[in-house]
Amino acid sequence: MSLAQHAAGLFNLTLTADQSACFDRLAQDLAEWNASRMNLTAITDRQGIEVRHFLDSLSLVLAVPIQAGQRWLDVGTGAGFPGLPLALVFPQIHVTLLEATAKKLLFIQHIVAACQLHNTRTLHARAEDAGRMPQHRARYDVVTARAVARLPVLLEYLLPLTKEGGVCIAMKGSTAAAEAADAAKALATLGGTLRGIVPVQLPGVEETHHLVVVDKVKKTPALYPRKAGLPAKNPLL
Ligand code: SAM
Repeated sequence: MSLAQHAAGLFNLTLTADQSACFDRLAQDLAEWNASRMNLTAITDRQGIEVRHFLDSLSLVLAVPIQAGQRWLDVGTGAGFPGLPLALVFPQIHVTLLEATAKKLLFIQHIVAACQLHNTRTLHARAEDAGRMPQHRARYDVVTARAVARLPVLLEYLLPLTKEGGVCIAMKGSTAAAEAADAAKALATLGGTLRGIVPVQLPGVEETHHLVVVDKVKKTPALYPRKAGLPAKNPLL
């Protein structure tokens, strides 16, 4: 089955010809840049890229309704996952792709130019620093992350950046429930409540993936996020 058929069957999404062409380009250039320029992904075969990067990213539609004008932020986006596939399929949302390693953003900028995406911007920063900047703090409707940190640490990156009334989504594997249980203190401290955990089954992938969905219900105290590095060193546990 093609990517478009999977996207339709799993998520009820209809990819246009232009969007499918851009996914082709993204798959090809990701493998090529990874081989010749920089380490961007451990997954290099075409099917793996389509399932574990593209479909996995698009699975976020199972967690929140997409609404025109929403401001999304993807923290620790790496080569652009999950933010880039979402920006590609939903031109009506704005997606900021935040990454601490500047050179990874070069790849994203290359794809944005090649596919003429007008709804993305890249942000070279640590999440802890962005969370203290007035132009980013509490400015985003939906804040996402995959494979960045364990939930108690991750919430200190994501919740300060999320608007009150907005949501954070942490993409997790089999550890989702255990991480959510460990995150009780972080949630209470940072102004979040656990809405739920959405299971995701991807074609050919044995392990169930999980979307941990957190509502931002209260303002995050000014003390958070702490200085870059501190959340990971001394998690809110
Ligand atoms: N989210 C992408 C994915 O799932 O393919 C990349 C995952 S990669 C394992 C983790 C990324 O998070 C790295 O690119 C790293 O530089 C970035 N990162 C880790 N801690 C960060 C922080 N505090 N602020 C911003 N980026 C961070």
